[in-house]
Amino acid sequence: MNTRYETVIGLETHIELKTETKAFCSCSAVYGDEPNTHCCPVCTGMPGALPVLNAKAVELAVKAGLLLHCRVSLWSKMDRKNYYYPDLPKAYQISQYDRPLCTGGWLDIPSGEGTKRIRIERIHLEEDAGKLLHTENGTLLDLNRCGVPLIEIVTMPDFRGPEEVTAYLRELRERIRFAGISDCRMNEGSLRCDVNLSIRPVGEKHLGERAEIKNLNSFQFAAKAIAYEAERQAAVLDAGGVLFPETRGFNESTGTTFSMRRKESQSDYHFFPEPDLPPIVLTQETVERWKSELPEPPSSRRERWQERWSLARETAEALTVSREAADSFERAAGMTRYPKQLAVLLAADPARLETERIPVSDKHLAALADLLGSGAVGNAAAKELLERLWQEDADPVEMAERLGLGKITDRAALEELAREVIGSCARMAQDYRAGKTAALQALIGQMMRRTQGRADPELSREILLNLLKSQ
Ligand SMILES: [Zn+2]
Repeated sequence: MNTRYETVIGLETHIELKTETKAFCSCSAVYGDEPNTHCCPVCTGMPGALPVLNAKAVELAVKAGLLLHCRVSLWSKMDRKNYYYPDLPKAYQISQYDRPLCTGGWLDIPSGEGTKRIRIERIHLEEDAGKLLHTENGTLLDLNRCGVPLIEIVTMPDFRGPEEVTAYLRELRERIRFAGISDCRMNEGSLRCDVNLSIRPVGEKHLGERAEIKNLNSFQFAAKAIAYEAERQAAVLDAGGVLFPETRGFNESTGTTFSMRRKESQSDYHFFPEPDLPPIVLTQETVERWKSELPEPPSSRRERWQERWSLARETAEALTVSREAADSFERAAGMTRYPKQLAVLLAADPARLETERIPVSDKHLAALADLLGSGAVGNAAAKELLERLWQEDADPVEMAERLGLGKITDRAALEELAREVIGSCARMAQDYRAGKTAALQALIGQMMRRTQGRADPELSREILLNLLKSQ
């Protein structure tokens, strides 16, 4: 990036709420069904059809605000945003204009060595539009997403580069998912963002003319669009050109942005209060109850675990890939003397933890950690037991016995095995006696191999050492 300019970025993030039904009718809000199978007179804008606000959508929108430290308005209202587009059959979108549900919050993001606070201007509730499918024979219209509830989270222009934007989106997505507010599946469009970007000479206080880049649906595209657009604006200014407010699109295959239209202003939409819906009135008690239902954010859980059990950052991250995994680990950790061993064991396969249901009970996870921590089973056996527990939620102690997975600690049996190993690997034994200490590890490895990893490593080492000395 051109170092004479500073990039100033604000984000508008659209997140589809995880409700059963749409925002103003009882049509299913499920994703991915046959086109035009979840539509009714309300969401297709038929004359005379009247909307009814989905209470769950209000609850989820307010919870998002509480997660982001916003003030919740006890009185707010819906407004009509008027514009025509083929995917919007009513020719207006029900949104919120001057009285949004939530205002004035913030989110801290990791930045450089410390954290940076990104201010949230507002969060409002609105509805999604339909989807246009452009084919060779013409354009098709699917109205299944029409009327699905969304929140739009608007930040202040606090970002200074793509890394900060990516860090914010990660933190935001994780919190929202944990609280069950949205799946935030970017590939399904349930999280997408618009980037407002301007540049200004370093040291300048006034903001430059901004471009709004619409509908970025992956972290990577957002970062690429920002990098490209900042360079483009710098090149225009350097060449003596003038920037003007405009709406731009992002071309995913070339990684470039392109002009769509001069920026419309809010007044172009002729907002007015939605006459078919009463205002949204909440009580402080309701808001407090919703607040009490919010889970602890994953980032603070990770910090707590890392500190308490000195977990590696990667381990803590793997355990927070889903709310289920984090909750399940935390409960089981409270029931075993070996929470760290449990963490490391579970985190070895993070893909398995990306689930809505952990199939192993807390009690059995804790029992497995006890087996591993106390040395009754080795690492390989613990991994195998975990694998099997995922198929069948049974008592791991019995399972280890049944499958013969316990550690071999029988001295006589191990001595016999050690003699065999020294006999068949005479070269290694010679090497060891000649001073190559690494050969001992190879001999222990042989014992492990012959017992499928079940030989007690400490005892094997001791026995081998004794035999090597005495022979
Ligand atoms: Zn409907």
